[in-house]
Amino acid sequence: MTHSHAEFQAIAKTLTPNGQAFIDGAFCDADDGDKFETTNPATGQVLASVAHCKSNDVDRAVAAARRVFNEGTWSRAEPEHRKEVLLKVAGLVRQHAHELAVLESLDTGKTITDCLHEVGTEVPNFFQWYAELADKTFGKIAPTGPSALALVTHEPAGVAGAVVPWNFPLVMAAWKIAPALAVGCSAVVKPAEQTPLSAIRLAALMQEAGVPDGVINIVPGFGHTAGQAIGLHNDIDTVSFTGSTEVGRMFLRYAGDSNLKGVGLELGGKSPFIVLDDAAINDDLIEHAAMSAFWNGGQNCSANMRQLIAAPLVEEFATRVCERVKAFQLGDPLDPNTDIGSMITSDHKTMVMDYIRSGQDQGAQLVMGGDSDLPGYFIEPAVFQNVTPDMKIAREEIFGPVLGIMPVQSAEEALAIACDTEYGLHASVFTRDIDRAIHMARSLPCGTVSVNGFSEGDIKTPFGGYKQSGSLSRDNGTEALAQYMQTKTIWIST
Ligand code: NAD
Repeated sequence: MTHSHAEFQAIAKTLTPNGQAFIDGAFCDADDGDKFETTNPATGQVLASVAHCKSNDVDRAVAAARRVFNEGTWSRAEPEHRKEVLLKVAGLVRQHAHELAVLESLDTGKTITDCLHEVGTEVPNFFQWYAELADKTFGKIAPTGPSALALVTHEPAGVAGAVVPWNFPLVMAAWKIAPALAVGCSAVVKPAEQTPLSAIRLAALMQEAGVPDGVINIVPGFGHTAGQAIGLHNDIDTVSFTGSTEVGRMFLRYAGDSNLKGVGLELGGKSPFIVLDDAAINDDLIEHAAMSAFWNGGQNCSANMRQLIAAPLVEEFATRVCERVKAFQLGDPLDPNTDIGSMITSDHKTMVMDYIRSGQDQGAQLVMGGDSDLPGYFIEPAVFQNVTPDMKIAREEIFGPVLGIMPVQSAEEALAIACDTEYGLHASVFTRDIDRAIHMARSLPCGTVSVNGFSEGDIKTPFGGYKQSGSLSRDNGTEALAQYMQTKTIWIST
């Protein structure tokens, strides 16, 4: 059901967001009573005081998660039971979709349209998909001679930690929680300090659905407090992290300095959008070009900021992209007509504006946008032409609404520039020639290559990065389960 701006504003007025931690089935303050504020980045309004969890609180959460894991009420429950409960979680999230979407929009500055899709459709679909897998994940029997029966079995890894970013708060949390719980792990989750509210609300819905006490714990806090405590904890068996490459490195160090826990990393990107000379510059391509760079205000790990366009097509492409981008509406994230909301914080806006200035200083041509008169942390979508591969804006992750057009003379040149990065998360390729499409897709060192459309795939397909965009782990798809399972060989002499 579509709501109007006024209806979303009315929902916002009814919300009293809970900022408490959720540990062992109960909402609570941090042990030392410390709190921090979370604000609406579109207005600066304080939304809630949030429990600032530190290592004591993480210890309590891990102890609860371990206790229930050892008791087996969830970890050794019939898989059909875990399925039934996780399906109830999906149902409750759908039932509360509007409330959760408004909460997410207020806490992030993301548009209500995106929040409704993410929270109302994607998040419950994740829970449903992994719920359905709970009783369909089989082991193997290895081929042996008659003297042995060799079983390859899977067991839940134990206590799973999850540390997630602010750009898709509930989606990122669900990417970790749903597969972890489906296989029988207990979880300790740290939402980003900028956006803790939706994960806290989810915990209440999970409890209502029948997830036992201790199986899901939410410990809001900062990176150097709750995040580090999770990374260094000696009784967490596996941790799944999504965030910057810089912090991803820390999680590998934390594991080395503690119990060698498994570490799954989903990190940054600098993804190319490649248009070969045989592609048709039509409305569809232009829509994908614009959305690939500006979806979520460009605050997206797979944002296709580097747009490598065959030289003969550049003029037409640039003109039409700018026309499309002019139609984007910046404004109140709760207005369903808004296309681009606010940057997450004042510091983040400053960082993005610094990149825009550096593009200008290094000789790229800013053809539109790049500023904003609106109060709050808004930035008009910026389009640069004549970007060269050595420029800072072409090399570093900007994480804001900036699209850079680079003319290329050949497919080989596009490939060389696309590959010349420390990242390898995503790439888009546009061509009408299937052989060229397959050649490019196979040659690009990225976790996802989308052809003739910008897409990250969906819950059924694994998502993650090559090079410094991640580890060998993947979120989504059946592949995600590997982050939360041990593999055991049982060799029976017969
Ligand atoms: P970030 O790395 O600063 O923070 C991510 C999480 O890590 C937060 O919860 C934060 O509190 C925590 N953290 C920060 N410092 C820490 C420390 N010292 N120890 C432990 N935890 C710490 O990233 P961000 O700014 O929140 O998010 C943006 C980044 O996330 C971008 O680089 C983006 O590309 C990446 N991202 C990747 C994916 C993906 O799937 N590959 C998806 C979304 C975002």
